[in-house]
Amino acid sequence: MTQAHKQKISSKASQFTESVIREMTRVALQHNAVNLAQGFPDFPCPPELKQAAYEAIAGDVNQYGITWGDRAFRHALAEKVRWYLGLEIDPERHITVTCGSTEAMAATMLATVDPGDEVIVFEPYYENYGPDAVIASATPRYVSLHPPDWTFDEAELRQAFNNNTKAIIINTPHNPTGKVFSREELTLIAELCQKWDVLVFTDEIYEHILYDGTEHIAMATLPGMEERTVTINSLSKTYSVTGWRVGYILANPELTGAIRRVHDFLTVGAPAPLQRAGVAAMQLPESYYKELAILYQEKRDSLLQILDEVGIPYSIPKGAYYVLADISRFGYKTDVDFVLYLIKEIGVAAVPGSSFFSQPEKASKFIRFCFSKKPETLAVAGDRLLKLQSILQKAT
Ligand code: PLP
Repeated sequence: MTQAHKQKISSKASQFTESVIREMTRVALQHNAVNLAQGFPDFPCPPELKQAAYEAIAGDVNQYGITWGDRAFRHALAEKVRWYLGLEIDPERHITVTCGSTEAMAATMLATVDPGDEVIVFEPYYENYGPDAVIASATPRYVSLHPPDWTFDEAELRQAFNNNTKAIIINTPHNPTGKVFSREELTLIAELCQKWDVLVFTDEIYEHILYDGTEHIAMATLPGMEERTVTINSLSKTYSVTGWRVGYILANPELTGAIRRVHDFLTVGAPAPLQRAGVAAMQLPESYYKELAILYQEKRDSLLQILDEVGIPYSIPKGAYYVLADISRFGYKTDVDFVLYLIKEIGVAAVPGSSFFSQPEKASKFIRFCFSKKPETLAVAGDRLLKLQSILQKAT
């Protein structure tokens, strides 16, 4: 009897590849390149957080906690959200603590989207949103952000909305462009969401990393939007603890109920002692956030100076900790070829633009650098990148 041959890999898993960002980190390690690819700091988190984590573990906070989040953490979180965003959050009914904002976005989509539903995604986009849409059987509808200032065209956005639109994903401050959505842009998006009865999933993980006096506007604070907005965030970037895997979701009680059910069966809960340590993060003084923004502005400026010296054009980031650079002057066929050259021959890793676009053709002239690094790291990267000057001189 012959055995029928079954497809081992699901059609969903076959639709996406390994994360290019994390792959570049591995290639960088192999070649001893300075890693300006993956978005994580190479400097320590605040000592208050470390201390609180030690104490939580020593104090036996080591078992499963409440699945939707440690009570003390949720209460401290609600307090912090009140002073920073001005939102009244009920820690018992509006918060779900997740394993990073990565799980937060996946759980939100799984809890709200049905097969055939369309989800609008601004392009370029943080690479996880593509696979998230596949996992949730959503149909992504891409709306372009246009360089150099990465604005969207109103008519293109209007056209993307229809009766099948279930949600729109916003990410502000934005990875990879550094764009910060303006009040006018968010107001237009809000009007369209109300007109078409659409949810907003807003990833605000870089809410405190802002430059040149730019203001962060949370979609949930716009008139009529709190009820239809799911705000996704995490400790990863603001408190430099990307490895802790503690994120959170703010949403109305109905959505929160569905999201908590999905979250429970996906992961049961985020790390209990690290959620408890999150209380210390929420209690950091306001000055912590101001200093964080100043620190990052220095890092941004030092990387931009290097790019200026080399002669690589870019759009100035207004938030988050990346710069999207235009590599067309180097004449490489693809962004991936250029990044592999950069890692192997120059000794600096970046992320090929194609990680952030649905079609690689749109991305071939972009690469992303992350500047969430110590001054020493940026200095070494700078020395190495300067070697590119002579290549550009030869090309012109
Ligand atoms: N959202 C954005 C826009 C990001 O840039 C990142 C990480 O780079 C994440 C989410 C992932 O965050 P977390 O560590 O909370 O899962």
